[in-house]
Amino acid sequence: MFLRITKNWQALEKVTAHEWMLKYAGKQVYEQMWQPLLIGKFASFYKDVNMAWLWARMHARTTRLGTFEGGFQKFADLFAEKLREKGVEIRLGMSIKSIKKDQASGRLSVDGELFDKVLVTTSPNLMAKLCPELPESYLKGLLELKSMGAVVMTLSLKHSLSKDGYYWFNVPKEEGYPFLALVEHTNFVSKENFGGDHIVYAGDYLELGHEYFDMTDEQLLERFIPAFEKFNPEFKRDWVKKIWVHKTNYAQPVPLVGHSKNIPAIQTPIEGLYFASMSQVYPWDRGTNFAVEIGRKAARLMK
Ligand SMILES: Cc1cc2nc3c(=O)[nH]c(=O)nc-3n(C[C@H](O)[C@H](O)[C@H](O)COP(=O)(O)OP(=O)(O)OC[C@H]3O[C@@H](n4cnc5c(N)ncnc54)[C@H](O)[C@@H]3O)c2cc1C
Repeated sequence: MFLRITKNWQALEKVTAHEWMLKYAGKQVYEQMWQPLLIGKFASFYKDVNMAWLWARMHARTTRLGTFEGGFQKFADLFAEKLREKGVEIRLGMSIKSIKKDQASGRLSVDGELFDKVLVTTSPNLMAKLCPELPESYLKGLLELKSMGAVVMTLSLKHSLSKDGYYWFNVPKEEGYPFLALVEHTNFVSKENFGGDHIVYAGDYLELGHEYFDMTDEQLLERFIPAFEKFNPEFKRDWVKKIWVHKTNYAQPVPLVGHSKNIPAIQTPIEGLYFASMSQVYPWDRGTNFAVEIGRKAARLMK
């Protein structure tokens, strides 16, 4: 209740969620409810995450859920179409390697092409690699930020997995399950939107170097199948029509104690160069709505 009411997250970021919850929620409630969630999301960093992060999760949570018909790709495609109509040029499949100041023109050289202003939206780590000319203190700030990776498998199935029609399961990994979340999307959005298939998402937040990053899609599926059988003993391998596996090194920033003073400025010390990423979304947990918000903030600064 206190966490729903208080707005003073600044006081809460001075202490870890682990310490705060042990003290105020009590050992039993913490160990049975909050600790498994923290471990699931932050693995070995779970004792280091600050309490403002957990406060934000509870403070801003609502029971409302929205969805874009056709999914996020459809949204992105329509948005891109609108932008192109307004004269925006979008180049897909480009992997930028370097950003530096062009001494002759004073402009920014992005892989040799010159621009007046540049906004980078990658991970802090990649930003540091792309632009080693940034001053030492800014680079150090970028490299000190911690984050978790993620591996996510999406499956299209012939039949529904959850017999009771549930949408979202937070899975107890400490009981040997091979992932943290299991979401049967078509228990929220009708399967008619997916050609009649049942869509299931199984994912986990993982530290870099975790074996899942090196496994093939098939190996990962074999690892996950026993868990699907636990959810539904009738589940059979041949229910699986297709799988898509996505892996990323940068999925979830880890906010440590006193994080607010570690957040890099959007306007970097290099004139014309801006940086806006998930790691600067705080105290709220990163999300697409906050990505839009920080994008707007960056746009105002770049005017
Ligand atoms: C597993 C997982 C689950 C999530 N679940 C939710 C959820 O349920 N709800 C929610 O709101 N949010 C969720 N999020 C968070 C959401 O995805 C992010 O907050 C949002 O995508 C951040 O937007 P962004 O534009 O800052 O970064 P990104 O979406 O990561 O965009 C960065 C872009 O930069 C591109 N890029 C990287 N390197 C280069 C390069 N060298 N050259 C050119 N381009 C490059 C990338 O390809 C990418 O397109 C989830 C994230 C993860 C990983």
